[in-house]
Amino acid sequence: MISPKLQDAINAQINAEFWSAYLYLSMGMHFENEGHAGIANWFRIQFKEEQAHAEIFMNYLNSRGGRVVLAPIAEVPTSWDSPLAAFEATLAHEEKVTSLINNIYALAEAEHDYATRTKLDWFVSEQVEEEDTARGMIDRLKLIGDNGLALYTFDQELASRVYNVPAPLANEN
Ligand code: MG
Repeated sequence: MISPKLQDAINAQINAEFWSAYLYLSMGMHFENEGHAGIANWFRIQFKEEQAHAEIFMNYLNSRGGRVVLAPIAEVPTSWDSPLAAFEATLAHEEKVTSLINNIYALAEAEHDYATRTKLDWFVSEQVEEEDTARGMIDRLKLIGDNGLALYTFDQELASRVYNVPAPLANEN
């Protein structure tokens, strides 16, 4: 059985993952509208990944005899000035998610809940990757600047991204 405090923290994290999903879906819709189909595709896959993160936490809470409580998802922004602005917002958001994961990790350690700590290990590594990816996109978009052809090539490249079920969820099925 998981402690009420950890259960609350994981429920808050489930909501944060769904908020992330909603944010990236909103970015996907925005760039679809702006004619950047590749960037839109990239964010729509990001949306699916975030849903999967929420699902991993939901399954985990259930497996520990906890109770999943789905709270309302707060409003997300609906437009960004440029692809660069969207990836900068992505990095800022992922840095926030990293600190949320770290807080749950610290709580799990304080409570000697080693199962939760172990479950969080994958998320700790995943956050390093999320931040690194966003930083890489920002670097490239800064180089691209206002070069339309370079942005077109970037968009084409992002069109090829495909969704892979995150490992912890894939292993459950
Ligand atoms: Mg996530």
